[in-house]
Amino acid sequence: MKKLPDKLYGWYDSPEQEVEKPTYNPPMICLFCVKKIPIDECRTVSVMGIASDKSFFYRVHKKCHEKATDNEIINYESSIIDNYQNTNTP
Ligand SMILES: [Zn+2]
Repeated sequence: MKKLPDKLYGWYDSPEQEVEKPTYNPPMICLFCVKKIPIDECRTVSVMGIASDKSFFYRVHKKCHEKATDNEIINYESSIIDNYQNTNTP
């Protein structure tokens, strides 16, 4: 399992939260290649299927997302959940 540098993902604590105002808004850095993302190459991806009201998202280059395999994407997304649980449990 890959270890994530800092928090390259964001989340909402409740479904009623405004889209522009996530609880944590990550920097414009690609989760997959860990490089800066120009605004016109950015894709924001929601992570589904997590218990509770929280929802997670991350940013990637469009081309990184397109060339990633399903397995790679699943790995990255489960790293997000692991990282979140490890750093946000009291
Ligand atoms: Zn990238």
